[in-house]
Amino acid sequence: MRLAEKITMPKAVGAALPLLFLCSLGLPSGLAALDQQLVYRVRYDLATPSIIHVSLNFSAPAAAPVTLIMPRTVPGGYAQRPYDPFVAGVTAFNAANTPLDVKRDEIGPRWKIGKSGEQVSRVAYDVDVTRMEREILSAVDSSKIREGYVGLLGYSVLAFFEGWENKPLRLEVSGPADWPVLSTLAPRVPADKSSLTAQAAGYYALADSPILMGPKAQLRQIAGGVPLFLSVYAECDDDVAQDGLLAREALDRVGAYFGKTPFSHYTVVLEYLRPLSPRHEYNFSMEHIESGTFYLDTDHAITAQTGDRNRAEQRFNFAHHIAHSWIPKRAYGVGYLPFHWEMAPIIDTIWFNEGFGRYAAIEALAEADLSQEEGRRSRGRALDRLRGILDDAPEFIRRMSLTDLSREGSFLYSDDFRVGRNLFARGALMAAEMDDQIRAQTAGKKSLRDALRHIVDWCDQNHRAFRTEELPVIFREATGVDTSAILDRWMQPPLR
Ligand SMILES: [Zn+2]
Repeated sequence: MRLAEKITMPKAVGAALPLLFLCSLGLPSGLAALDQQLVYRVRYDLATPSIIHVSLNFSAPAAAPVTLIMPRTVPGGYAQRPYDPFVAGVTAFNAANTPLDVKRDEIGPRWKIGKSGEQVSRVAYDVDVTRMEREILSAVDSSKIREGYVGLLGYSVLAFFEGWENKPLRLEVSGPADWPVLSTLAPRVPADKSSLTAQAAGYYALADSPILMGPKAQLRQIAGGVPLFLSVYAECDDDVAQDGLLAREALDRVGAYFGKTPFSHYTVVLEYLRPLSPRHEYNFSMEHIESGTFYLDTDHAITAQTGDRNRAEQRFNFAHHIAHSWIPKRAYGVGYLPFHWEMAPIIDTIWFNEGFGRYAAIEALAEADLSQEEGRRSRGRALDRLRGILDDAPEFIRRMSLTDLSREGSFLYSDDFRVGRNLFARGALMAAEMDDQIRAQTAGKKSLRDALRHIVDWCDQNHRAFRTEELPVIFREATGVDTSAILDRWMQPPLR
């Protein structure tokens, strides 16, 4: 989903960036960006326990004025979720440490720093994370601070300078003495103590990377193929080893489905939280470029009493969000990238992001089942649940075209989860129908998996989003099968 699907009873459950991916994000290929670096310093100090201190430091002073922007929406968030209300005390200085003018925009999340002819060396501000968590009712969208634990979503605390989004960045994090600190940009276990440094190819990579710290963050590396790291913060009993096992299975199976892994490590960030208030919403998750944040209530913790069904749901939630590292992070329709951080973009293909991403996870797990028959049954149950969502939809949603529903979902995906559920259900059922047709017409030699692997390569090679009408063309290149009639039928209401 937002990369977040709701884990309801059936819960739903998102690298080192390869060079080609950097290109697809529109990052610079020239070396000019390398001679001046921007260093982000993130500091947490127990003297001000609800506040994160951030400073942006130019390695060589930059010409003023510069514009500092705080995100109001995030990739895969499908919502307007402003973080600028929690920023306070923006200050700026030149190389001589003389304060510069800082002018807050009256409406937008922008601060104009300095005047023409001046130079900017450093900009600093504070973020009130405790207030953020209190005021943002959707737990998946907020950073958390607890006694002994800090869990930060990069984009919720890190602003950027307009025009500097695509330049390489350095991150320096410092925390209280002896606290372990971890950035998903460069995870390590055992973690660094008290401070760390990491590099990011640009603002998107930096902002889409969580930062964890504190003695109550249980940090593990889970043995296996692609390096997998786990951070668990639990306000209840939880079996961290089981969490790790489920995440490992999910990562391995999704990786096998897509054939090659576009990241060199992956981090699962899990929080099991006691609800802050009855109005706060938990059990959504969010994919990031090389990590996923899973913010669940304590009822979802894995313990010795957890039944097979809930374990399977947890594994599916991991798999779904890990699948997002391919779809839509690497294969996406118009509107997804390059991302505009101030205003939620209108996206016509959320059914692809959420539906095809979901179907890939369903297939990845079904393929790995003990027997073909068992795999068919688990796929059948998953598709039945999706049909149930369409059957239960109110008439006005049933009559909406997939494009209209996706445009609504660009803002309302989880805020009115009827929109989100109907988007992923229609998309995944379309994917299933295409898969059946491809298998039938190729006598089982090809499947949708070949089409999805190809579209990941296609977006990478073309450095751009696909247009909806290009989808069957790209799929045909990989499979020889024309799926355009299936696409056309699903795009238009009413549903059959
Ligand atoms: Zn999702």
